[in-house]
Amino acid sequence: MRCHLLTIVPPFYNSPMRMALTIAGFDPSGGAGIQADLKVFSGFEVYGLSVVAALTAQNSMGVKAVRPVASAFLRRQLTVLFEDLEPHALKTGMLQSRANVAVVSEIIKKYRLGNVVVDPVLLSSTGRRLAEKGTEALVRNKLLPVATVVTPNMHEASVLAGIEVKDLEDMKRAAVILHELGAESVIVTGGHLEGTAVDIFYNGEYTLLKGRKVPGEFHGTGCRFSAVIAALLAKGVKPLAAAQQAKIYMRQAMKKTFSTGKGMHLFNV
Ligand code: PLP
Repeated sequence: MRCHLLTIVPPFYNSPMRMALTIAGFDPSGGAGIQADLKVFSGFEVYGLSVVAALTAQNSMGVKAVRPVASAFLRRQLTVLFEDLEPHALKTGMLQSRANVAVVSEIIKKYRLGNVVVDPVLLSSTGRRLAEKGTEALVRNKLLPVATVVTPNMHEASVLAGIEVKDLEDMKRAAVILHELGAESVIVTGGHLEGTAVDIFYNGEYTLLKGRKVPGEFHGTGCRFSAVIAALLAKGVKPLAAAQQAKIYMRQAMKKTFSTGKGMHLFNV
């Protein structure tokens, strides 16, 4: 009897499935990092690949400990993956060590990967350092030049651009500096602005991404915002349109979070 498997299961290489990769931290609470990114990718019907760059011990009340994955093993995870699978977009999240930032930048160049979203994770929303000292210099010099989109919050924009960022005008100035450092599009997120939640998008021209604040503390907001953008880039959406959709998505997602009553609200998307 003839086997009809090939007619039932189309060959992988003809698959229309879009793929996105996250290179980020492992969050046992499921609220941020790789776990958040994979849920977002899946919600956008994008197949998620994930490479672990750091491990964390955390819950909804905050990050208690962080350990980087050895950079040689990070490189191995990436090279083995790329022997077989090619993502249509990728995002970087918590890389934690200088060596890991250097490896990710080297691999992006070596495999000529495009649609690169850099979420420059330096601090948690509870104020804990999530990256080794000096990581910001490596992000500035090695990741921004390969970034299609970089998504710093106000604090990260300040550290990376080397200026104080406390209002909309500072956010605009920081965006120009990060663009000049090599990022094609820069989104400085304004979640920490008083009363409003305006983000600045800059790619040579400014666009304001306006939004109303949803009250509360949310775990994994930055991770999700950049994951939505990566998922949309993987589907062929342009950075500005992706940022606009991500902004709308985040507001809706925040309204659907839940709370354990002890710490920050958790997303279930
Ligand atoms: N854990 C991981 C693995 C992260 O990547 C991040 C931030 O990007 C956090 C924790 C902190 O998330 P938040 O500051 O939204 O609570």
